[in-house]
Amino acid sequence: MSWSDSLRAHDTQVDLLPSRRLTVLSGPSGVGKSTVVAEIRRSHPEVWLSVSVTTRKPRPGESHGVQYFFADDDEFDRLIEADELLEWAEFAGNRYGTPRRPVLDRLTNGVPTLLEIDLQGARQVRKTMPEALLVFLAPPTWEELERRLRGRGTEPEDVIERRLAAGRVECAAEPEFDITLVNTSVQDVCHRLIALMTDPQGVTTSTNREV
Ligand code: 5GP
Repeated sequence: MSWSDSLRAHDTQVDLLPSRRLTVLSGPSGVGKSTVVAEIRRSHPEVWLSVSVTTRKPRPGESHGVQYFFADDDEFDRLIEADELLEWAEFAGNRYGTPRRPVLDRLTNGVPTLLEIDLQGARQVRKTMPEALLVFLAPPTWEELERRLRGRGTEPEDVIERRLAAGRVECAAEPEFDITLVNTSVQDVCHRLIALMTDPQGVTTSTNREV
């Protein structure tokens, strides 16, 4: 699949301001967002990736402060109470939130900043920071998403079912996003995402396209 095939715009006149430095990457659980983020972390140190706080337990290989800050419910309540989260949401039985201060500091310093968050979080960012670029990462097909989610083998069946249900809702919200990248190849998605973040004027978009 070519670049143009994997890029869908929901608006033929997508407004890509050069000053736009905050990018939100969203999409259904299992689509490969964290793989894309890990690849960007490895290959593009100039992009700052926000580290979210979550009440979810760490998966094997995850470390505190790298993939997430792992918190208990009391700590998460405290962060909400103190208004320290830019946005937060409950997803499949756990809470996730973006610490506000580090994001605002990076944006003030002109650092390209990426948030990998769910649909509810993306909607909150759309409201509070309307200049942010919202990117939807879509699976090539629904069957592929299901296969990836089950293949991961890290979640019990009831959690997978909840994530698939949330995925249906997330996929239906795709038109709310500025741009869709179809995850046929991690390298391709990273390349496009970096182009969007670092040279938004250079992005040409054309048609709405279905997966
Ligand atoms: P996972 O448990 O698979 O790491 O993440 C579950 C979902 O939570 C994913 O869709 C991920 O994008 C989302 N998520 C991760 N961090 C945040 C956050 O800070 N805020 C919101 N709203 N969603 C998040």
